[in-house]
Amino acid sequence: MRPEILFPLFAPVTSLKGVGPRVAPLLEKLAGPVVRDVLFLKPHTVIRRTPATISTALDGEVMTFEVTVESFQKPRVHTQPWRMRVFDQTGFMTLVFFGSFGSQLEQRHPVNSQRIISGKVENQGSFGWQMVHPDYMVEPGKAGDIPEVEPVYPATAGLPPRTVRKFVVEALSRAPEMPEWQDRAWLERERFPSWREALERLHGPQGEADLGLQSPHARRLAFDELLAHQLAMAQRKAERRREPAARIGPSELAEKIRADLPFAFTGAQERALTDIRRDLGAGERMSRLVQGDVGSGKTVVAMCAMADVAAAGGQTALMAPTEILARQHYETIAAPLAAHGVGVILLTGRDKGAARAEKLRALASGAVQVAVGTHALFQDDVAFHRLEMAVVDEQHRFGVAERQRLQAKGEAVHFLAMSATPIPRTLELTVYGDLDVSRIDEKPPGRTPVATRAMPMPRVAEVETRLREAVASGAQAFWICPLVSESEVSDLKAAEKRAGELKSTIGPSVGLVHGKMTPAAKDAVMAEFAEGRLSVLVATTVVEVGVNVPNATIMVIEQAERFGLAQLHQLRGRVGRGRRESACVLLYDPPLSETAQKRLDILRRTDDGFLIAETDLELRGGGDALGLRQSGFPDYVFTDPIAHRDLIAAAGDDARLIIGRDPELASERGLALRVLQELFDWKAGMALKDAG
Ligand code: ADP
Ligand code: MG
Repeated sequence: MRPEILFPLFAPVTSLKGVGPRVAPLLEKLAGPVVRDVLFLKPHTVIRRTPATISTALDGEVMTFEVTVESFQKPRVHTQPWRMRVFDQTGFMTLVFFGSFGSQLEQRHPVNSQRIISGKVENQGSFGWQMVHPDYMVEPGKAGDIPEVEPVYPATAGLPPRTVRKFVVEALSRAPEMPEWQDRAWLERERFPSWREALERLHGPQGEADLGLQSPHARRLAFDELLAHQLAMAQRKAERRREPAARIGPSELAEKIRADLPFAFTGAQERALTDIRRDLGAGERMSRLVQGDVGSGKTVVAMCAMADVAAAGGQTALMAPTEILARQHYETIAAPLAAHGVGVILLTGRDKGAARAEKLRALASGAVQVAVGTHALFQDDVAFHRLEMAVVDEQHRFGVAERQRLQAKGEAVHFLAMSATPIPRTLELTVYGDLDVSRIDEKPPGRTPVATRAMPMPRVAEVETRLREAVASGAQAFWICPLVSESEVSDLKAAEKRAGELKSTIGPSVGLVHGKMTPAAKDAVMAEFAEGRLSVLVATTVVEVGVNVPNATIMVIEQAERFGLAQLHQLRGRVGRGRRESACVLLYDPPLSETAQKRLDILRRTDDGFLIAETDLELRGGGDALGLRQSGFPDYVFTDPIAHRDLIAAAGDDARLIIGRDPELASERGLALRVLQELFDWKAGMALKDAG
């Protein structure tokens, strides 16, 4: 239940003065449906209104003057403006008003009355000083209405910044003093103001500097937000820990399967398996993420855990976002497991009729121990004999409900996620705060690095020629066209054009996949490529994460400068899987900005996905919301991923401490923290987005 103290902030925006049926939808679009959302708007700049006299006016500056009204000049034709002459001790100025209200001017500002005016002044040469539509024009008694430093808010058509500011000021007046939810010692050390003081400063900046992300009030608000989120995640983690789950020990079976593999585990794989086994043996539900580049060996690690589960009499479901990925996982693990008597089935949307019924029977009876598949795995008529572990590949591609439906097929099912999307270490907590993370940051030996080079678009013909030669000698290549315009149709056209062009130079073995195709049609083309029947695959959308085509050795990416680095890294990871030399060509539209050049350069220099993700974040300076969202960064209001990254770790530590000491949030600070969580809506429900 929402604490009473928050009621005024969760009232609808229509409760603000001046927000009626016309304005409400605009304000909702800009901020959100409740007063809190208006309170949380941030000014993006400030206007300094310098007090001045007319003789000290500066052309183009925003200034405030104390003047007396001298006379009015009515327009001769209605398309012309009204003019009003004013003066102070030092000179004259003309105020200019367009529009039809001019006739009321004289009533509102009679000759000889005193006014404080503020706005942009312009020097009109022989016509003297002029101000078009002053921002403010008030009686001397109301001079306080004109801020010397005015925060400027985002606006939208029909809702100008100054009107938005009026609503923000009123929202601020509704904000109560809150019980302090932060640790006092920490507040002092960081010199953080109280919550309300922080908001007052946010909306009443004393200058540019107050807009800075590192100013104490901005850091305080960001820390509040981060703590609310980290708390929700720590709570979820603790809740899962409290659920008893099957205790599963390391098995001889798994060790036999491992001994049969034609390779030894890397150190990183060993560590990941050790982590998983510790979780499985603890008697609590596991929630672990194994993170590592494509091909780093996550699936075989998961396979060993599946063998442990099978040896203990349980079943595992391995779910992948696409059919082709599911099939590849199946191909990786089925034979090694089956060789030691662990039954594995593949279940996808393609299974129909009697064959499907047979597979379902085998699952329900416990005749098979592992089911690999797609969404088909959690359909209502799929039942397990004893599901004890769910492994989800690229979990962010699934909805929470979908993952839960899968886990609901057993009791207290251990959860293991696998992800090949590199995320900078500093942001890990914001994305995976409620999972334990094992990183596989070491590649299996014997992989040849991918020779990477950047080339300007005008040299594309050269690339095509080289590609033709490579294909003639049996190579396979990906050719990626980015989504660049707003319109998917024109992007598709560009890709179709490229595919057509390559067909004419290379021949009929050029295929095309794009976002408008049905998943089945996409899978079919991908499969043709994987089986070697296509030599070049042109793709508009990112090639399915994790698809393994060992024979593919060339990756061409058009307009590479438009991709996030992590994404480029993942794309490049599609090649270089075998022992043959591989190449990646990053085509760009010249000229490249200095930052763009640096970004592409990193890819040439390193193959470490985490380092790349981290550097990308630094270079982007946090501005690229889209790239961040792709890596799973939450949609925070006050937190900036770069500027506030030190706070992320601190909030994570704090949340762990709090939940450790006061799991029910029952202490005085605990109660205040509940208010904080409600304030930011980062309650368990929201955190659900992030985990199984
Ligand atoms: P991921 O799931 O991280 O993409 P996989 O587990 O599917 O990686 O492994 C990719 C390929 O590399 C598979 O063919 C697998 O057999 C092989 N592989 C895995 N671990 C090693 C290793 N330590 N040494 C050599 N090859 C390995
Ligand atoms: Mg894999």
